[in-house]
Amino acid sequence: MVVGAGAAGLFAALCAAAEGARVALVSARPLAETASYWAQGGLAAALAVDDSPALHLEDTLAAGRGLVRRSAAEVLCVEAPERFRDLERLGVRFDADRHGRLALGLEGGHRVRRVAHAGGSATGRRILRELSADVASHDAIEVLEGRRATALLLADGRCAGVQIDAGERRLARAVVLATGGAAALWSRTTNPPGSYGSGLLLARAAGAGLADLEFVQFHPTAVTGVKGREGFLISEAVRGEGATLHDGSGERFTDELRPRDEVARAIVATMRARGEPCVWLDMRAVDPGRFPNVVAALREAGLDPARERVPVAPASHYVMGGIACDLHGRTAVGGLLAIGECACTGLHGANRLASNSLSECFVFGRRAALSGLGEPVPAHRAAPAGDPPSPPSRTTREATWQHAGLERDAEGLERLLGDPHPLARLVAASALARCESRGAHQRTDFPAPDPALDDRHSVVSPDGVVSVETWA
Ligand SMILES: Cc1cc2nc3c(=O)[nH]c(=O)nc-3n(C[C@H](O)[C@H](O)[C@H](O)COP(=O)(O)OP(=O)(O)OC[C@H]3O[C@@H](n4cnc5c(N)ncnc54)[C@H](O)[C@@H]3O)c2cc1C
Repeated sequence: MVVGAGAAGLFAALCAAAEGARVALVSARPLAETASYWAQGGLAAALAVDDSPALHLEDTLAAGRGLVRRSAAEVLCVEAPERFRDLERLGVRFDADRHGRLALGLEGGHRVRRVAHAGGSATGRRILRELSADVASHDAIEVLEGRRATALLLADGRCAGVQIDAGERRLARAVVLATGGAAALWSRTTNPPGSYGSGLLLARAAGAGLADLEFVQFHPTAVTGVKGREGFLISEAVRGEGATLHDGSGERFTDELRPRDEVARAIVATMRARGEPCVWLDMRAVDPGRFPNVVAALREAGLDPARERVPVAPASHYVMGGIACDLHGRTAVGGLLAIGECACTGLHGANRLASNSLSECFVFGRRAALSGLGEPVPAHRAAPAGDPPSPPSRTTREATWQHAGLERDAEGLERLLGDPHPLARLVAASALARCESRGAHQRTDFPAPDPALDDRHSVVSPDGVVSVETWA
């Protein structure tokens, strides 16, 4: 059973079915409301002649600021090229240059061009279109669309299936959670509203650990102050093609291709110093044909990026933390696996390297699908674990933005500990426990990294205690 029909869930379902499994795929929201569908820049893989998995690994480790689980990053960097070829075999057509060679984009933190894209900046849409058509026509995959997983079923301490909607129970050998991230827990976000971490709460209720919840990436360039486009993401690849950032007086203030956390902080410092609500992205020198859907979306909102600068500010974008799992997606609960953005293998450390997340969906999606095949037949009687997760209120989202935003301190985080939403409280507890600043987690009361916390992941146990652990 796979819960979630984004890149990770669709690919895992296809991989399991290719091995002869019968798969049920549950998806709460329409395809166009997944983060995967919205992905613009592309997927990172060492495909260029001047690139290698070793170089990709070095960049991933550098971006993750001493917290990347090296074994997970090695798996990603070594296996991403093969998963890219799988996608090509499935019919995804990636963009080529005018000589017919694969066109690779450059994004922040990457030292070479290694981001494969499709339809310019419509990568997610192109991939999902292909994968969902394959899933829909596959005899061994049953699609339960518009249905929500409301609890995991437990039998003898193992996950034995999923409760759907008001009470339908489905048993399965293995349940693969692919429910996406939790960035919509913050009020200003690039994510679809469904990305509020329901899978994390389902897994937690079943007894799985959650890890690294204090690390949420704020994307530097989300549109602000443009009606109908609040939070709309302008891909980092646009800066890779030469777009520049300017303050209100037109001055450049940062190297636009530094890793995301650094660029986001430079933007906030500039906004604060000048008392301005945004900075300006100048993409007038970039070929509009390279990013057709970004340009079209802005033009629809009355702003022409070929002629004028675009007002941008950081927004919450990607949660590095999630359901703690091993390199095959296995969680602490037997029969329960997690993949894609809801999972935390430790791969991204304190700061995800741009475009590593789509690759993660395919690399670890396949691994988990294969590993789930070996689980035993479930017991016939199983009971739901916990209540259905509910979405955060507007007040919770504002509070999370205010108290667990780009910069945090103990006072604000303690206030967030009293929030009614369980995930907001867990984010606060994890951020409070990490008394240092590292990557995406910046504490104004602990402004420096603590070397004693290198390679130490924060894990929230089922009883709510945050501990720091080293992962092999
Ligand atoms: C605007 C934007 C641009 C991005 N660009 C890039 C990029 O260029 N490159 C890159 O690598 N990454 C990018 N990312 C990040 C990347 O898209 C995501 O990390 C990745 O797509 C997550 O895929 P997923 O399959 O884990 O989750 P999602 O694609 O979010 O899918 C989650 C699925 O789970 C379902 N679901 C959730 N809860 C339940 C439930 N309780 N019951 C049933 N179904 C449920 C949802 O309906 C959905 O089908 C971008 C993200 C955004 C928001």
